[in-house]
Amino acid sequence: MSRQTRVLVTGAGGFIGNGLVTYLKKRGYWVRGVDIKYPEFSTTDADEFELLDLRRWDNCLQATRDVEEVYALAADMGGMGFISANHAQILRNNSLINIHTLEAACINGVKRYLYTSSACVYPEFKQMEANVVPLKEEDAYPAQPQDAYGWEKLIAEKLCEYYRQDYGIETRTVRFHNIFGPLGTWEGGREKVPAALCRKVAMAKLTGNPEVEIWGDGEQTRSFCYIDDCVTGIYKLMRSEFHEPLNLGQDRMVTINQLADMVAKVADHKIEKKHVPGPQGVRGRNSDNTRLRDVLGWEPVISLEEGIARTYPWIEAQVKAKLQAASSEKKEMKSVA
Ligand code: NAD
Repeated sequence: MSRQTRVLVTGAGGFIGNGLVTYLKKRGYWVRGVDIKYPEFSTTDADEFELLDLRRWDNCLQATRDVEEVYALAADMGGMGFISANHAQILRNNSLINIHTLEAACINGVKRYLYTSSACVYPEFKQMEANVVPLKEEDAYPAQPQDAYGWEKLIAEKLCEYYRQDYGIETRTVRFHNIFGPLGTWEGGREKVPAALCRKVAMAKLTGNPEVEIWGDGEQTRSFCYIDDCVTGIYKLMRSEFHEPLNLGQDRMVTINQLADMVAKVADHKIEKKHVPGPQGVRGRNSDNTRLRDVLGWEPVISLEEGIARTYPWIEAQVKAKLQAASSEKKEMKSVA
């Protein structure tokens, strides 16, 4: 690259945004990261990192100044527990972020804008069976997402489409299917199922307890895509000339019970699954990757087993550190008493 292209990554303090910053830096870009927080588990590789609340219009103008491309990843989001319990907050915060960021990018003359949507846009009525037919991009309509999170993503997808048609900004829209890997949220309520299961199995192993709680009967199905494939796919889509929504995920579906067994195998710990009531989302979901292969000539390559093998040890180390900190705190309190 003769001159460094200047790009903005919003949500750069988050799981995928932080990974994308690293990826773009390796490819020679000048990167500004923006978020309301710094990355929790690593330092950022961004050339410049600004703490800005992107719900605010003035902050969006500041964030999108002097850049040619925007990767829009900022969102108030989390796993099923969070998404199913915070509809108004999610719809309000993310609508503000999406509307203001895209408009500011347009005003500041940004050439390309990639929006990160979700498989949560797909209608509930197409995901009633565990053995679900994989979802094609056109299945999103007629629309009936299960949660406000999905509605908000659909509106933002449409916003991108209309801004491209009306104002000429080159928009790209990617629909992620369950991205996971190290350096992602693993506790606190916003974590997604692979991280939650790694944490529960690590906790069981480190405390010598076989029991691992699973929400529902565990026969609900999903596909899971490793973070390295995710950032590669995002980049390939940004560089392509394709502007319709595109699935980005693995197309291998597993049950949550199978995922728990995979984690237990990597942990080398025998678990007893305890099925408890909890939010489960749709019954089944899988990605149809036909369009992904056609458009990018590529699809995710890292297997679920390999992804879990790379993720579990990191989460086990986090759990171990937390348990050790709690135990030293307890000892200190005892000695003070
Ligand atoms: P994440 O929660 O780790 O990252 C999102 C980041 O956005 C966070 O760091 C958060 O602080 C930031 N943010 C929230 N409100 C903000 C605000 N007002 N101003 C500025 N920053 C704000 O989530 P992620 O997994 O990295 O997801 C990135 C994007 O991909 C999101 O748009 C998400 O909806 C989408 N997505 C992710 C998945 C997945 O499986 N991880 C699946 C589908 C879609």
